[in-house]
This record gives sequence, structure tokens and C-alpha cells, in this order.
Amino acid sequence: MKQYLKIDEWKVIEDQFHPAYNEITESIFSLGNGRMGQRGSFEETYSGKTLQGNYVAGVYYPDKTRVGWWKNGYPEYFAKVLNAANWNGLSIQIGGVEVDLHTSEIHTFYRELNMKEGYILRTCEITLSNGKRLAIESIRLNSMADDESGVISYSITPLNFTEDIQIKAFIDGDIKNKDSNYDEKFWDEVKVGSNFVWSKTKKTGFEVITAQQIEIKSGGQKVDAKSTSTTREKYSELAYTLSAKQGEKLTIIKYAVNISSENHPTASFEKIATDYLARISAKGFDQMLQEQAAAWATKWAINDIIISGDASAQQGIRFNIFQMNQTYTGEDDRLNIGPKGFTGEKYGGSTYWDTEAYCIPFYLGTAPAKVSKNLLIYRWKQLDRAIENAGKLGFNKGAALYPMVTMNGEECHNEWEITFEEIHRNGAIAYAIMDYVNYTDDRKHLVEYGWEVLVGIARFWAQRVNWSKDKQKYVMLGVTGPNEYENNVNNNWYTNYIATWCLKYTLEVYAEIQKNYPAEAAAKITSTAFAKEEIAQFQHIIENMYFPRDEKQGIYLQQDGFLDKVIAPVDTIAAERPINQKWSWDRILRSCYIKQADVLQGIYFFEDDFSLEELERNYNFYEPITVHESSLSPCVHSILAAKLGKEDKSYEFYTRAARLDLDDYNNDTEDGCHITSMAGTWMSIIKGFGGMRLKDHTLHFNPFLPKQWNEFSFKINFRANQLNIAVKKSGVEITNLAGPELTVFVHGEARLLESID
Ligand code: BGC
Repeated sequence: MKQYLKIDEWKVIEDQFHPAYNEITESIFSLGNGRMGQRGSFEETYSGKTLQGNYVAGVYYPDKTRVGWWKNGYPEYFAKVLNAANWNGLSIQIGGVEVDLHTSEIHTFYRELNMKEGYILRTCEITLSNGKRLAIESIRLNSMADDESGVISYSITPLNFTEDIQIKAFIDGDIKNKDSNYDEKFWDEVKVGSNFVWSKTKKTGFEVITAQQIEIKSGGQKVDAKSTSTTREKYSELAYTLSAKQGEKLTIIKYAVNISSENHPTASFEKIATDYLARISAKGFDQMLQEQAAAWATKWAINDIIISGDASAQQGIRFNIFQMNQTYTGEDDRLNIGPKGFTGEKYGGSTYWDTEAYCIPFYLGTAPAKVSKNLLIYRWKQLDRAIENAGKLGFNKGAALYPMVTMNGEECHNEWEITFEEIHRNGAIAYAIMDYVNYTDDRKHLVEYGWEVLVGIARFWAQRVNWSKDKQKYVMLGVTGPNEYENNVNNNWYTNYIATWCLKYTLEVYAEIQKNYPAEAAAKITSTAFAKEEIAQFQHIIENMYFPRDEKQGIYLQQDGFLDKVIAPVDTIAAERPINQKWSWDRILRSCYIKQADVLQGIYFFEDDFSLEELERNYNFYEPITVHESSLSPCVHSILAAKLGKEDKSYEFYTRAARLDLDDYNNDTEDGCHITSMAGTWMSIIKGFGGMRLKDHTLHFNPFLPKQWNEFSFKINFRANQLNIAVKKSGVEITNLAGPELTVFVHGEARLLESID
């Protein structure tokens, strides 16, 4: 754990440079607007530890799979989020010496991520190796208002000299992914011009033109500076020689755009880029900064969670909410939420079950319904690929297996125990449909999109189980549950449970759509060739599924034979953690230690099926042997602990989740932030401390106030209403901010909220 960043309720601050942690800070200071994003690297040359990362949403590369031993059925490639042209680039020379913090003496240093208004700011005073002392101030944003653009205002003030400064403002398209499997470069050049680099990805053929426009100011006044343009392969530069006076601020404003073939015809690329640059530069930096603050004010108006009395927790939750909104804005149903968002490259792919299990509840609560719907439509559009994917593994008749990791619907994960066996992901996709429809009441979604996905998923489960003569039950063999520290197990309780639930839910939806939308339903049932016999088949499985259980302790068993393991609490191996870095894989597999919620994930998802006593027994058994080595783990445990009244535990899990990246808790933030689990952090407050549940079209709250806090409040979109929920020492206040009259329940008591026009 590292605590070098300062606590502030709206900012993340580094007030003294920590070169050894620079890549961590770059991840944390990442910027994004849903359409493009980048790590928070310096604009000028930095020869120390850094990972320059610029990403354009939806642009990926199928990197040829690299595995030691090929298994039939492996995907040919692993889709990587592509590191794209660097548009930050500034190279500054004074008296022949490059401005570079790594080789300079640093007198003062300050940088902040301003979450309220969406920018990064840096100031520092340095002396170069030739004795020139200067002050630097830079502000950078990825515009929310013009989401294919970004802008930098970069100022230099000479402190002990008056002389010419050489500045090169460049775009560098000669970029390689850090994790390229065969050390290949993934971009080819299409064209370079005096202010742009136009590149095309190998194989996938995505094209992106990255262009810049420069404005120079001296002492606050625009100056008409002459530039010389240099181009070479994948590189374009505008060079200036500017006379700088001691004590006078020289400012370079760099407007940049990323125009992608995903959104624009390549035939007009140059004109689109030029017009875009003309438009944003006409606005000017100050207006772009103001519009950014306004866009973020709109986001915060519904997204903010206010915690009084605990600045560290406040900063943590705002950081999580900020990153979620930078990663996905919900306007485009071709996009999704990568586990690292725009903050790093690790993991590749953009879509995991994380989206359905963790992110959708966040967007349901904080954004218009369209945002979550787009995430569901994304999967609906990829149904054919999921059917193909299941086909490759030997399933047929419309059975669909959604990929564990994907960009375009094809599986691109290649560890056999996950690709082929971690099939519970299919269940989360069905679960999210239920979650969305119940929360929004958009029941037509079921016939328009839901049914086709559900029947594909249900068919997969119906084929994946087999009848055990021995048990006289259906069993599911050779799976990996959410706990990836067990592979190839039989009857993972969670997988069996969610599979059975999918079959039940599919039959419920079958009945509902026929009742509510008979004509559309008939067409969909025909187009999916759903046969009456399938109802009986599903029903038989539902009634005869096997669930491993230990009657003595009254718990569900994570899988067959779980109790053969030596069960000892995690405290007994404290010095050996994290086990994924310290133990051999076979030792992990044989041990009882659990990576993330597994049985408990199921009880969390389907809580109404279980009594509080059952939850307690299972929690008390599983939590002590859980190492929480997935960032998705603490939030689920926080919510369950809250339900059990274990307030301290719930709070402990919350802080761990909320400050996971800010404190580099898992020692891996330099690879990028844990974006998808940030939605889980939000859930810890809303569903954990706020105890919010939807039952039968009605919201229920069972809040508690963590003792470290004076009060907290959050807002929630619920259908036509927007509510503010304030949990204070004096009690719980719920206010209707918009929408019709509404009854909610607080600790079981009904409250009528008056309508607000
Ligand atoms: C977790 C998975 C998750 C993936 C991406 C893994 O460590 O075990 O459940 O989908 O990370 O976040």
C-alpha cells in the first residue's frame, strides 16, 4: 500500500514528485471522455519511468495468440486495446538542453487531477543541467463537450534567463503496445501531413487521423509565430523558435483531435480533422475548460455521493465515479467498459462479465436508462458470434456462449480453464437483462432484444449439463467458477445455480412476452425456432439440478469435494500473500483460498432465495478463506456484510475497494486502474451502506451510517424519479428531486414522497 497522494475531497494531488511511482500516478491521472482517453503522462520529454498511453474507443488489434501449448478451440488472437498516436508531444530545448524532469533538478512540483472539472494540472520549478531555471504550468483535458478532441495549455516562464527556446509540438504515431505478443507494431501509416498523422491498424483496418493545431501566447497575448514542419514515417512536427524573456510567461496551446473510421468516412478525414480543429480553436482554451467544467457539473449533479467527516473516503468514491464516467458515456452501443478503461493496456479486450455484474447497476442508478440499454444491445448485436462461439465448442441448435473477453463478439481469451470453463459469464448476461428490465420497467425490451439472448443462453446451459445416473440429478462438469483459483471443478455451486436460474427466467420471459406482446413474441419465438419440447427439457433440469451442500454446517459447497481441503483462515498465511504472486499455481489450486466471491456471489445475486441465517452461515464459512485478489471481490463482501449488520467489516471492505488504486493496494496500479470494480465501489455505498433494494417495483432502503462518517448522501435515478437519500445521525431523509409521487420503504416503513414537477 502506498499513500503518497494527498487527500482532498475533489482532487487527487501529488505535491512532490515521486519518480519511482510515476507509472502509478500516470494511471491514476488518466483522462477520458468515453470516445478517447490517455494516461496522465507528462507532455514534454521524460526519460524516466513512464508509459505513454493514448487510446481511441473501439479501436483494437487482434494480436496473434501466444501460448505454450496450443489447445483445439483456442481463439486465434487476443484483442488488444490499442495504444494509439501520442498527441501530447512537446519537445522543448533551452540552450541546447532538453527539458526533462528526469535529468533536471526539481525545486517544486505539484500536480492534481481535478475531478470536479475534469482536467489535470501540473506546476513545477526546475533547473536544467545548463543552469537555466524555469517554471512550467500545464493543464490538459479530454473534452466531454467535443469528445473527439483534447487540449493542452503548456506554459514556460524563464526564471533566470532571456533567450530563444526551441519547441517542437509533435504527433507520434510510431507506437507499440507494451504487451505486444510478438513485439510487433500494430499501426501502418496511411499519410502524414504538416499537422497530422493518419494511421491504419494492421489486420483490423481501423483508421485514425490524429491532428494538431498550435497557438502561441506571450505574456497572455497571442503571437504570430512561424513554424517549420517536419514529417517522417508516422510522425509530424511543428517546430518553433520563440524568444523568451525572464519573468514572462510563454504559452503553447495545443488543440488535438482523434477522428476514427468507426465514426467518420475516411474519404473526408483530412477535412473533418481540419474543421474540427478550427471549431475548437475558435472556442479557445478557456472556453473549452469552462465547457468541461459544465459537462462535469451535469455529471456530478446526479453521480455525486457526498460523505461528511471522512475526506479519504470522499476522495475515494469520487475517484471511482469520475473514472466510470470517463470510461463509458453510453452514447454508442458498439462500445463497452474495459477493465482498465483508458488507463492502461493490461487485460486487453473491452468486455468481461464485469459489465453486466458490476457496471450495469451503476449506470442504472446514475444515468438515463438508454446507457444501460446500450450495454445490453451490445451483447444482443453479438449474439450470432456467441452462437458461433458455442458451435466451436460443440454446442448446437442456437446455443450461445458469450465470450469471457471480447471486443467484437468473438472470444479472445486463451487460457483453457477460463476460455472453455469459466462459463458462468453467460449467466451474468441474462441476469443483467432481468436487472435492467426490473429497474427501468422497460418490459418491451424482453421481446425486442431480451428473448433472443435468453433463449441462446438457456440452450447452452441445457446442453452443457448432463444427467448423472449415479446422482439421479443434472450435473455440470469441468468448470471454473468466479473463483479462478479453482479450475476444472465439478458442480461449481454458483454456476449450477445461475444456470438453473437462467432456464427459469427464460421460461418466465417466454410466458410474459406472449401475454404482453403476442404478435412480436410469436415472430421471435418462430425466428428462434423455440420448440415446445424445450420447455419440458428446461423444466426437467430446473427441477433436477444438483447443488453441492454440506448439511452439517448448513452451507453450499463451492464445488464437489470442497471439504476435502485443509480449511484454515487467511490470517494463517498472512506473510504469504498475495498468493498469486507468492505461490505456485498447483498450490493455489489445492488450497482452500478463494480469489473472489463465488458461492457468495450467488447469494448476493439471488438474495431473496436465501434466509439471513443461510447468508450468515455461508459468509462466516467463506469470507475468512477469501483472499480478495480480484478487485471485484471486496464490494460484494461489503454489501453482504452490511446486510448481516457487520458494519465494521462492511466499511473495511468499502475502503479497500474505494482506495484500491489511489493507495495501490494490489501493487498493480501502474498497469492501469481497476475500472470495472469501481462500479462495485459505488454499489458498496448504495446497496451496502444505503441498503437499497428494488422489490416489486418499489425501492427499499435499509441504511446504516458508518461510525467514521457524520453523514452521507447519494442520488438515484429511478424510472421517472430522481431521489436524494441522505443518511444522517438524526435519521434517513429521502427527497424527491424530480418525478411523480412515489412510495419508498425505509427500514420497512412506507414513506410517501410528493410529486415534483
Ligand atoms: C477476475 C474476473 C474478471 C477479470 C477482469 C479477473 O481477475 O477474476 O472475474 O472478470 O479479472 O476484471
